[in-house]
Amino acid sequence: MNSQADLPSISGQRILVTGGAGFIGRNIARALVADNEVRILDDLSTGSRSTVPEGATLIEGDIRDDDALDRATADIDIIFHHAALISVEASIRDPERTHDINVTGTVKLLERARDEAARFVFASSAAVYGNPDTVPISEDAPLEPTSPYGLSKLAAERYVRLYADLYDLSAVALRYFNVYGPGQLDGDYSAVISVFVDQAAAGDPITVEGDGSQTRDFVHIDDVVQANLLAARAEQTGVFNVGTGESISILELAETVQDLSDSTPEITHTEARSGDIDRSCARIAKSESSLGFEPSVSIEDGLETILRSAE
Ligand code: NAD
Repeated sequence: MNSQADLPSISGQRILVTGGAGFIGRNIARALVADNEVRILDDLSTGSRSTVPEGATLIEGDIRDDDALDRATADIDIIFHHAALISVEASIRDPERTHDINVTGTVKLLERARDEAARFVFASSAAVYGNPDTVPISEDAPLEPTSPYGLSKLAAERYVRLYADLYDLSAVALRYFNVYGPGQLDGDYSAVISVFVDQAAAGDPITVEGDGSQTRDFVHIDDVVQANLLAARAEQTGVFNVGTGESISILELAETVQDLSDSTPEITHTEARSGDIDRSCARIAKSESSLGFEPSVSIEDGLETILRSAE
């Protein structure tokens, strides 16, 4: 597993992490705060003040608010843009709000990055691919998002590319697969891990939806932090997958949690969820060769840390 010492080093920079009170952003901020001036812009809509790393400055505000942006981006060197409306279901209920936060919000940040000539690292998502024809999915696979959330991420990463092309902005987009790790709130991406771990910790049966044959590429938060630091230091523009390059079925995941937990919970099956993506797995050759990305946490080790922190 990555230790702070193994992470790509960045020092002496003024850094903004939007969404830095949330799951991924706070882990990026934590990795940087010792050697840099770190600001966090977060409206605390899902994030929490209590998890903001010590030493980072929290600017409580919306990424669409000009005054908050003035404070957050003055003299900034690097922007990690992670604030977003991240719920697929909420995006289907409210596409306009999703567009406003995820697309308009990103354009506002890109403008600030352009003013400051800052390096821009954007948190995109495998949701831009929709239901893939083939796996593993490479960056040039068809882009067919199936939700306003996925479409908003696609539009935002296209803006990132356009700013790089038109204005020579040093900007990159990372397409995360299913990120998991300790301290994650239940959400769309890796909720299944939190659910299984909570069930196992309580000694309850592990409930698998359908036959559990659907596959996912679960990437540990430490590896996502690594990808962000590499992307911030690199000069490349473009989009890069961030996954492990390996997938696991939901049934195998349940069995792994079962094996790792002391209580040996039974596995039961419930009705399949409609509209679920069957298979997902990142091809990471481009991230490996261009960024030097090297996922280091196996699903077994990652689950083990979560199980221990749930006990
Ligand atoms: P999270 O909900 O834990 O963090 C998002 C943060 O953004 C929260 O702290 C929230 O309060 C803040 N926020 C939301 N709207 C805001 C606004 N308008 N202004 C300011 N702050 C706002 O989510 P996360 O899992 O840490 O995701 C971070 C980023 O990574 C998101 O852009 C998400 O789309 C992307 N992503 C996550 C995953 C995953 O598996 N978790 C996968 C693909 C992409």
